[in-house]
Amino acid sequence: MEGASRRETEIAIAGGGLAGIVAAYELLDRGRRVLLIDKDSRENFGGLAKESFGGIHLIGTPHQRRLHIHDSPELAWRDWQSVADYGQCDDWPRAWGRFYCENSREYIFEFLDQKKIEFLPLVNWPERGIHAPGNSVPRWHIVWGTGHEIIARLLAALDAHPRRTHLDLLFDTEVSGVEMTDGRATGLYSRAIDGGDVRVKAEHVIVASGGICGGDLSCVCANWYKPWGDPPRKLLNGAHRYGDGMLHTQVAALGGAVTHLDLQWHYAAGVHHPAKRRPDDGLSLVPPRSALWLNARGERIMHPGPMPVYGDTRHLVASVLAQPGQYSWQVMNWKIAIKELAVSGCDYMTAFRYKKKLALAASLFFGNKDLVERLIRDCPDDFVVADHLDDLMERMDEKSLYGLTIDRARMAATVRAWDDMIERGPAYFNDEQLRRIANARAYRGDRVRTCKFQRIVDPKARPLIAIREFILSRKSLGGIQTDLQCRVLRAADGQPIPGLYAVGEAAGFGGGGMHGKRSLEGTFLGGCVLSGRLAGRGMAS
Ligand SMILES: Cc1cc2nc3c(=O)[nH]c(=O)nc-3n(C[C@H](O)[C@H](O)[C@H](O)COP(=O)(O)OP(=O)(O)OC[C@H]3O[C@@H](n4cnc5c(N)ncnc54)[C@H](O)[C@@H]3O)c2cc1C
Repeated sequence: MEGASRRETEIAIAGGGLAGIVAAYELLDRGRRVLLIDKDSRENFGGLAKESFGGIHLIGTPHQRRLHIHDSPELAWRDWQSVADYGQCDDWPRAWGRFYCENSREYIFEFLDQKKIEFLPLVNWPERGIHAPGNSVPRWHIVWGTGHEIIARLLAALDAHPRRTHLDLLFDTEVSGVEMTDGRATGLYSRAIDGGDVRVKAEHVIVASGGICGGDLSCVCANWYKPWGDPPRKLLNGAHRYGDGMLHTQVAALGGAVTHLDLQWHYAAGVHHPAKRRPDDGLSLVPPRSALWLNARGERIMHPGPMPVYGDTRHLVASVLAQPGQYSWQVMNWKIAIKELAVSGCDYMTAFRYKKKLALAASLFFGNKDLVERLIRDCPDDFVVADHLDDLMERMDEKSLYGLTIDRARMAATVRAWDDMIERGPAYFNDEQLRRIANARAYRGDRVRTCKFQRIVDPKARPLIAIREFILSRKSLGGIQTDLQCRVLRAADGQPIPGLYAVGEAAGFGGGGMHGKRSLEGTFLGGCVLSGRLAGRGMAS
């Protein structure tokens, strides 16, 4: 690196997402000097968390207690292990999962609370499980103001920190490697986007560069989970544009263990993002419970039972991947859409994002008409609207791919059978999806956003809406293996590489894959806060 400019610091952090920011904050608290480098521009400081919805998995909070939800670290750990389905040798992932369950209140909730980050009073309940238990109780706490608020508050806290002068920030600069001296990490190699190498000398290095599920998706496809066969022909991108796994490769080349990259957390209800910021840019919908989920031929997906929304995200993905064409349709009507359809992330959920209490209350009582109108307008590639089922099916077929077509007679019969069963009344609900809807409506957090057994072809609920949905790539469950101090462990002997740390999604949120195969949801933001804090503490001690 002839002619490189040089910088010196105590701790160099590669990546300014939530995990890197929290680590920086902890280190300032402990009087350390920090240089944080990010490839992205200053306006995107905060990474994916800034566009996230801000749902966080927490156990034993005052919000749960107020709702008389009896939760405990023991119950949470039981649920966690049930969905994680860890492999025999997953000692570090297990240690991290357990630590999360035992310490989420102190390490995550209290930390955010001290930064004046508030949660909505109603705790949500995703990932209830299907074949194995999921969340036994609601644990998904929504930040008022979404992930945008988390980042805004944390950046304000960094700025107001009494030791703010100990922190240097460098944007538009890509970290390309870790400098090693006698087996110890001693700095970073980096390059400004507009040219010019920057060499950073540091006592410790933290890799906080996020997951592998973004970039150009080549890393996702190269690490595709083998039992699922080949990746689908169309895969939408819902992760970070710089989430290309480059630093994972660097760490592996230095002898660090990088594990479980084939365990990825995708979503089944992706549509093309209207912003089209990159090829196959995706928007992840939160699928309605009361819609019928059909395959590319218009057949109801039964894998083996109906698609259990809020049951097991990985199962939904695997079910769609097992269908012809590996994309799907959700069929509903206006009434279902305004009550149940939502978007993961903050851009479309404006009442949450801009903290509009009245708008939120109105959308809960009268439905979120603005959202549905906006989606229909902005996403013409994937949304189809019609007053009559025949017209709807014809328009769906105009969007059919790979030579597959809707079997209209079969689809019409499926919709009729569904509507007839609803007409017969709850005593005759002989369908798992309807039983799950009944169960969801028993919890008040879900009742407010779940229709009361709504027929699809209902003249009072028109128009009909069909949404063409693709698998959307989002989060890496695997990553750089770390111990509970976030020290990167060597593949050869499991010993820490001196001076080298990893946090957040880069570390599989801790331990190289603390979730195992599945998440209980909200554990991603939570895992970033937890690992960022542990790294800061571990390093300072
Ligand atoms: C729309 C959306 C909604 C979500 N909603 C939720 C939710 O409700 N709950 C939840 O728990 N999780 C949610 N998530 C997931 C969560 O936001 C992420 O998993 C988490 O924010 C990852 O944080 P991170 O700091 O590990 O990585 P990132 O946020 O990916 O940050 C990594 C940073 O590193 C930088 N970088 C990458 N490579 C380099 C390099 N070579 N050199 C320098 N810099 C580099 C990037 O520019 C980026 O700023 C959501 C994600 C999205 C996209």
